[in-house]
Amino acid sequence: MKLSISIKKMHNTILKLSDKLPLTCSRAGNCCHGNKVLINPWELAYLAREKKISASEFRNLYSEWCGVRLLFNGAVGYNGKQACSQYVDGIGCSAHVARPLACRLFPLGRQIQNSETFYMHQGEFFPCLEGCGEVLNLPYCTVNEYLTEQQTESWELAQNAYLELVQLLADIAFELLLDSGLAKSGDKGTLQQWRLMANESPEQLAERIGQDWLDHLTIPNLDINIQQPQLFCEQHVILLQQVLQKSLEDTQTIVEFQEAAVLVMAMALFLSIAVGAEPRLLVSHWIDIAKNNGAQE
Ligand code: SF4
Ligand code: SF4
Repeated sequence: MKLSISIKKMHNTILKLSDKLPLTCSRAGNCCHGNKVLINPWELAYLAREKKISASEFRNLYSEWCGVRLLFNGAVGYNGKQACSQYVDGIGCSAHVARPLACRLFPLGRQIQNSETFYMHQGEFFPCLEGCGEVLNLPYCTVNEYLTEQQTESWELAQNAYLELVQLLADIAFELLLDSGLAKSGDKGTLQQWRLMANESPEQLAERIGQDWLDHLTIPNLDINIQQPQLFCEQHVILLQQVLQKSLEDTQTIVEFQEAAVLVMAMALFLSIAVGAEPRLLVSHWIDIAKNNGAQE
């Protein structure tokens, strides 16, 4: 079963690639304070390489939400908010080459709906104007020119690949529920657990997943040129499939299938947070599909 994922954010101004905006950054560093920057596993690996430490060390030192969000624990600055852990006062981003997609795009955002990619900014007014009004005196450029200048292509490829992985994990959870006899047994607990997990924090989901699976998800042990995001993501998918296959090969009883369907869905939801999807929307959509295919809640 193929499930579709869309990332929806409300109250955004959707942009055309040809829209011309004051996108030249004044380099005041305001947006490196008090912001929320999600990172996928490839971005984490790239940042770690840039800092010349292991992915595991980067996760421990510079991330929160168990590896899916950059830690903002630096000095207090703009608007009384703390700087990103990668921000150096007076210099800027210490990981500039490896900065995540969210930073490359800012003040723009990206959303995918029905397989189409849109760029937008939050709210009605151009976000930089709040703290960096001087951008109005700097050169304007089109959205397309901005994306090229920020070299977003590799980062967008990785983001798309991880969205697909979320979908793949959800597909596996569906197979465990619908093709194993679990749904036919009259089971209601699986969908109840899925709904419960939609409201759980990344830390709660990580606890359900357990340390080994969390490591496989966020810091895969891959010896791949970091500048090849597609290859990195492909190998990450293969690695997860291999480990999952091995772990599921002895699954036999209804209880074991239920545990597996809940575990794999927890992994899908955890990863969905890293790519900016909304777990509540995903779960509600997926539960509807499961019910239409005979599962009960
Ligand atoms: S808010 Fe805009 S202009 Fe100011 S530092 Fe951030 S990207 Fe640059
Ligand atoms: S990673 Fe760099 S660009 Fe992004 S918020 Fe942190 S300091 Fe700013």
